[in-house]
Amino acid sequence: MAANGDRPALGFWRETAQLVGAVGRAMGITLRNLFRKPVTVHYPDVQRPYPDRFRGILALTYDPETGEENCIGCRLCEYVCPPQVIKVEMLKATKRNYAKTFTLELYACEFCELCVQVCPTDAIVMLKSFDLATADRRDLLLDKDRLHALGREFEPSWATGNRLRDMQAPPKPAKAEAKGEAKEPGE
Ligand code: SF4
Ligand code: SF4
Repeated sequence: MAANGDRPALGFWRETAQLVGAVGRAMGITLRNLFRKPVTVHYPDVQRPYPDRFRGILALTYDPETGEENCIGCRLCEYVCPPQVIKVEMLKATKRNYAKTFTLELYACEFCELCVQVCPTDAIVMLKSFDLATADRRDLLLDKDRLHALGREFEPSWATGNRLRDMQAPPKPAKAEAKGEAKEPGE
């Protein structure tokens, strides 16, 4: 009779002990984190530096020496873009060609970087920024002027078409080795 009467009381104390233990552990974690340095930053007032290899929004560039637009309107980026978000019209000129119009629907871009990789003149680049958040999709339909303005506003990523293609090419022989090979047949 006494054993039957003890059963509910034992269960109650076991559950209470588990509950107190769980609350104690949770409070311990809360207290530990209370004195830790926060890992969050007050963006956009505080901005973390972007990693060297960060590739964000796209932009068009100018030649820093001549001030001319780098884009020659060749449309390679348009052909390679998987979601077909780039549209270019070429303007033919005597010395070189230009892009008459250039539009990029950034809201549908996959950020695959293929357009950058194929560009022969490093005219289209990715920037070290993602700072283009908006609630209006129309703000992300970028025309030529906007793409050039973004290129002036933000720091470009290290990756340009020419650099990326150089990385994928077979390694060039060292100068000394190349000279030695050239001499061998005549010696
Ligand atoms: S990053 Fe890719 S998806 Fe975006 S515009 Fe370039 S090629 Fe198109
Ligand atoms: S951005 Fe580059 S690949 Fe695209 S049209 Fe201009 S020059 Fe050609």
